[in-house]
Amino acid sequence: MTFSLAIVVPAYNESDVIDAFHARIGAVLDGIEATARVIYVDDGSSDDTWQKLCAISGADGRATALRLSRNFGKEAAMTAGLDAADADAVVVIDADLQDPPELIPELIARWREGFDVVYATRGERDGETRLKKFTSAAFYRVMERLSDTPLPRDTGDFRLLSRRAVAALGGLRERQRFMKGLFAWIGYRQTAVTYHRDARYAGATKWNYWRLGNLAIEGITSFSAAPLRVATWVGLSAAVLAFLYGIWVLLKVLFWGDPVRGYPTLMVVILFLGGIQLLALGIIGEYVGRTYAESKRRPLYYVESRQGGEPPFTSS
Ligand code: UDP
Ligand code: MG
Repeated sequence: MTFSLAIVVPAYNESDVIDAFHARIGAVLDGIEATARVIYVDDGSSDDTWQKLCAISGADGRATALRLSRNFGKEAAMTAGLDAADADAVVVIDADLQDPPELIPELIARWREGFDVVYATRGERDGETRLKKFTSAAFYRVMERLSDTPLPRDTGDFRLLSRRAVAALGGLRERQRFMKGLFAWIGYRQTAVTYHRDARYAGATKWNYWRLGNLAIEGITSFSAAPLRVATWVGLSAAVLAFLYGIWVLLKVLFWGDPVRGYPTLMVVILFLGGIQLLALGIIGEYVGRTYAESKRRPLYYVESRQGGEPPFTSS
């Protein structure tokens, strides 16, 4: 059975690695019996990634290059690639060679066994700091407890999706795109393949703790309303405590009388309640803001230009 395969590669300022990447993926594709296509999505790079992609797609008929009208972020770039991929199996892979293209045949083998989503789980990771490993592990543990959709641990975006999984994802047009969560949310038969995550080949990571922190908040808020519930519980406990304490103060006055004292208690109570209220407001604000962003229903990305390989795949 011959099948069509599309490789979706988001690339943002990857000028240093893109040629090496294409050479490696090209070699892998040569060994696979499939009508293969590589869809590069240039996420509004400011270096010469786009020029290099045009050259690549000019030289290799399997390569298509899309350029987004600005930097929309990796999640949107991946979505653009998935939307353009019309294939029986679609692989999403980073351009920086941290995900080894050589794993693709193994992903395909599992897909042929009947799995719809085959994700690659990182065994070990090179070239990443202890702190990054620790924070990333902590994030997955927290998500696991909060969310109803179990997220596979230590999994990046490197995975293979069947045609119907891609179609399912294509139907999710939410703006708060926490792709790892969405991949898990669609369900179907999913399985993992373990691999060794290499260090970046060249160039620098686009992530920093600010972006990762925001991604974590996005992940939590788009897959769980637990923080709202925490706010409710904290508020409720504070109210009960305050009520009990109020009774105590009242009894004290009634039985022993009370000359004016208690400035410290007053301050503690005011500050404590004020703090809790602001925190709860902040949590609510996160959700309101997200509702606002979704309600505008803006498109997720715009494609500015396209080079090479106009699809029609001969789909089987
Ligand atoms: N990327 C993107 N848009 C962005 C940031 C990153 O398309 O705004 C791409 C980037 O080119 C790479 C992949 O997403 O192919 C992963 O990015 P990176 O290596 O910086 O992240 P990390 O591996 O450190 O999580
Ligand atoms: Mg990387």
